[in-house]
Amino acid sequence: MQLYQNQHLKVYNSLSGKKEAFKPINEGHIGMYVCGPTVYSNVHLGNCRTFMSFDMIFRYFKHLGYKVRYVRNITDAGHLVDDAEDGEDKIAKKARLEQLEPMEVVQRYTVDFHTILQKFNFLPPSIEPTATGHIIEQIEIIKDIFEKGFAYEANGSVYFDVAKFNKTHEYGKLSGRKLEDMIANTRELAAQDEKKNPQDFALWKKAEPQHIMRWPSPWGDGFPGWHLECTAMSTKYLGETFDIHGGGMDLKFPHHECEIAQAEASNGHSPVNYWLHANMLTMNGKKMAKSTGNNILPGEIFTGDNKILSKAFSPSVVRFFMMQAHYTSILDLSNDALLASEKGYFRLMDALDTLKGIDTGKTSDFKVADWRQECYDAMNDDFNTPILIAKLFDAVKHINLIKEGKEQLTAADKETLEATLHAFIYDVLGLEGKTDTGAGTNKLSEVVTLLIELRKDARDNKDFATSDKIRDQLAAIGIQLKDGKEGTTFSVS
Ligand SMILES: [Zn+2]
Repeated sequence: MQLYQNQHLKVYNSLSGKKEAFKPINEGHIGMYVCGPTVYSNVHLGNCRTFMSFDMIFRYFKHLGYKVRYVRNITDAGHLVDDAEDGEDKIAKKARLEQLEPMEVVQRYTVDFHTILQKFNFLPPSIEPTATGHIIEQIEIIKDIFEKGFAYEANGSVYFDVAKFNKTHEYGKLSGRKLEDMIANTRELAAQDEKKNPQDFALWKKAEPQHIMRWPSPWGDGFPGWHLECTAMSTKYLGETFDIHGGGMDLKFPHHECEIAQAEASNGHSPVNYWLHANMLTMNGKKMAKSTGNNILPGEIFTGDNKILSKAFSPSVVRFFMMQAHYTSILDLSNDALLASEKGYFRLMDALDTLKGIDTGKTSDFKVADWRQECYDAMNDDFNTPILIAKLFDAVKHINLIKEGKEQLTAADKETLEATLHAFIYDVLGLEGKTDTGAGTNKLSEVVTLLIELRKDARDNKDFATSDKIRDQLAAIGIQLKDGKEGTTFSVS
């Protein structure tokens, strides 16, 4: 008997706009595809949140006893600047600017992506395919769409004929757009445009002579359109129809809409049963963007080497912070929010320690079995991690009352409580225990804060020999103090 047989999960399906009972195609098995990163720069913290949401979902499925094939791709070609139909390939542009081979760019940022995800304690996906590794499959799908009459060639490029597709299918059903409205709201095609209609999207783009990333095809040298790779890789590894497709909210249109159109044109049926979309991360109430400076890299949070936060925060604390919002809600990152999460994280971990040492009694004042089911109910309701965390803190409250002798717990209940807390905290939320760098970072932070205070006292007493000694010896072990208007902060190298 697996847990999923008596835990009834509901998921919010972006396609129907409703919460639906989740039923996989093959009982006990789940196929899940999530659009991965375009590896042309360091992984964005907002993208980490999206991938973390699906890591939590993957973990919960596994916890319920499902066998999951989780495919998350690496986009290493075909994604053009500004997600546009014309323009430079993001990888090729970076390669040109940094005078690197495109595959050097891909390698550098794939390694960065994996390093950061490992720090956040992600489980690796079952398969992590790349776009450049599936050019042949992509060409085959284009041929197929051609044969079905939904593609046309122009000047060595191949486009998807959206207007023709929409006559027999429904283009825009995922994002809730109507083709007629899209047509009414777009400019006329420029005279030099090869497309029949502005809504048409590229399946294959002709490579200009200076374009470095190119492959031969029946239509000449070129490269695949961005939307096509996900159709090719999801079909190859999960089949023509699979259970779950996930990604960031911003991918709903046009990326996922185009994936649906490509698959329906090629296979004749809908590719995905449940579309799940994760919401974005803002910082101090504003959209995160490199151009405005309202941006922080995950690594800069872990070391404390940034101008935005007062101190370093461990990956577990950041992960705990992200799990405190529902994955479909916008989450705002700020110094205060991280400080509060850190407090909460340690309170939770302390309670786990406390629970180990408590004496058991003859009766229980805490209804552990009911509480356990409430934890599952929270997760079964479209992976509601904030409600789950509130339930975990209910348990913390009882653990502390038991420790103070105000309540008691039977040995059997203690065992259930401990096992349930472990399952949700470590297996499902993916947090790491106090022995990890999290606790170390916190203790270190307390010690360095103490040294900063002693150094300030020394300086106030004009004892510059002591204040310099503290600064220099900390620097010697890799801890840099920075004096600013707001006081002294530190970073760890
Ligand atoms: Zn995709």
